[in-house]
This record gives sequence, structure tokens and C-alpha cells, in this order.
Amino acid sequence: MKPAKFDYICAATVEDVAEVLGEHGADARVLAGGQSLMPMLSMRLSRPQVVVDITRVPHLDGMRIEDDHLFVGAVARQQSLAGVADLATRFPLLSQALPWIGHYQTRVRGTVVGSLAHADPSAELPLCLVAMNGEINLRSPRGSRRVRAEDFFKGTMLTDMADDEFIQSARFPVAKPTDRFAFREVGRRHGDFAIVAAAAVRDDTGIHVTVGGVNDVPFRRRFDGLEVHDIGDAVSELAAELDTRSDLHASAALRRQLVRSLASDTLKEVLS
Ligand SMILES: Cc1cc2nc3c(=O)[nH]c(=O)nc-3n(C[C@H](O)[C@H](O)[C@H](O)COP(=O)(O)OP(=O)(O)OC[C@H]3O[C@@H](n4cnc5c(N)ncnc54)[C@H](O)[C@@H]3O)c2cc1C
Repeated sequence: MKPAKFDYICAATVEDVAEVLGEHGADARVLAGGQSLMPMLSMRLSRPQVVVDITRVPHLDGMRIEDDHLFVGAVARQQSLAGVADLATRFPLLSQALPWIGHYQTRVRGTVVGSLAHADPSAELPLCLVAMNGEINLRSPRGSRRVRAEDFFKGTMLTDMADDEFIQSARFPVAKPTDRFAFREVGRRHGDFAIVAAAAVRDDTGIHVTVGGVNDVPFRRRFDGLEVHDIGDAVSELAAELDTRSDLHASAALRRQLVRSLASDTLKEVLS
């Protein structure tokens, strides 16, 4: 199948992107790495009148540390994370999750921000952004605004972005030396989206687990005062709170079991 007819606009500036979105709203789609958009266009699951290519906009491909955050521009590629200095110590969760995001070939094209905008409930980067308390910077003809990760994801492929907004950048906080992080995922094959993924974080505010692949958005749960001997009960409570459903990839019962197992492993790791 081929995409339905659309107009292609190659934006030269951030203002160009805002202008196109301001004019066409929901009839326009931003093109970043194209790893999700192109298949959706080809299958006619998405039929925009206008596609605005943001990959030639100067300075949107940057990744830099600024104010204790990793600042990721809208067209910085997923694989570029591997080149961030001291990724494993400053951003342990991103370092652990990166190899699970598709394949090397898709990571070289796919952007970090494109994955956040796409908001697939099984994608690793939205889960990381929520677990790390990150932020999204949105831009539109009306100006800019910042949204916390936990307020950004609203449903399956549904976000807080208005029709005339796009993501200009995302920010992931640098880990403190005392923070602990653990990530686990089960997928059907290497490079597939997660059937279930879990990330545990222990920082100076407490302990929490974020689960992806189950609810419509990454689900974060705090566990105050948790000790190793409480983990069994804690993960059973967590599995019961989640909206586990059966689909082509796994039964609800298998998903619940995976939540218990992955959450338990990650919690043991951050508590050890
Ligand atoms: C074989 C294969 C395996 C994959 N496996 C995984 C996996 O295991 N885990 C995973 O997470 N992903 C996986 N993916 C998807 C991949 O990570 C995509 O790269 C990602 O979902 C989208 O990023 P992109 O830059 O390609 O965005 P695009 O495809 O260009 O865009 C995706 C959507 O986001 C919108 N968008 C993009 N950028 C912006 C922006 N700045 N502002 C507003 N809207 C924007 C687009 O309009 C579109 O609706 C896989 C893809 C393939 C082809």
C-alpha cells in the first residue's frame, strides 16, 4: 500500500514548524526519524494533508548536559544516547533501556523525542521519562510551555500536545551518585516492543516502580518504606492495580505474572 496524497514541507526553522502547525493543526504531522510515521502513512493509518519534515532545522539535533539535565533536541537520534559521556553513571536508566529500543538500525534513524511524541504504551523511552521525572518542552505559534512527563502521556498514542504544538526538546535529570536504578523487559523477540517492562528507582524521595506495556500510559507506583521482605506483597498489589488485558502478544494472566517478576527483580536490585 502507498500513502494517501499529502503535501511535504521541509521546515528550515522552528518558526516554520510552528507556522505550519498553526495553519493546518490536526491535518499536519511532524516527520522526525520516520520509523513509526512512515509505516503508518503507508498503511493509511494516518492520512495527514501536510507532512512537515523537521530534520533539517538547525540545532534540533543536539544532546547536551545543562542545569543537571540531559537536554535532547527534537531530532537527536536514539542511538546518539550511546555517545553521551558517562551515560551509565549519569543516566543509568537510559543506559540500561537503550539496547531494548528496537534495533541498532531503527535507533540510528528514530529520534528520542519522536518516540515520546508517538506515545506507544510499550515503548521504553516514555517509561524512562516518567520514571526519571523528566519534562517535555512544547512549542506552538502561541509560544512555549513545559510539561512534566507524568502529565504528558494521556492514553495509547495520546498526549497533552495540542494540534498546533510540537515537542522542541525533552529533559532527563542527571542521577545523583546515591540514586539506584534497575530496568527489566520481556519481549517476544529481540528488538520487539515490550510485552512488559519495569523500571525501579530509589532516590532521596523514596522508591518507585514504573511499568510499561500494560496500561495505556507508563504507570508509576510509590512504595514508601519498602524493605526486601515486603517485595512479594508489594508486587502483588502493583499487579492487581494495573489494567492487565489479553491481546495477540500475551494473556492478562501472563502480563500479571511478568509484572510481579520484573518489578520484584528491579526492586531487589535497587534495594541491594
Ligand atoms: C522494526 C522496528 C522495531 C521497533 N521497535 C521498537 C521498540 O522495541 N521500542 C520502541 O520504543 N520503539 C520501537 N520502534 C519505533 C521506533 O522507536 C521509532 O523510532 C519511534 O517510535 C518514533 O521515532 P521517530 O523519530 O522515528 O518518529 P516518527 O516516525 O517520525 O514520528 C512518530 C510520531 O511522532 C510524531 N512526532 C515525531 N516527532 C515529533 C515532534 N518533535 N513533535 C511532535 N510530534 C512528533 C510524528 O508526527 C508521528 O506521529 C520500532 C520501529 C521499527 C521500525
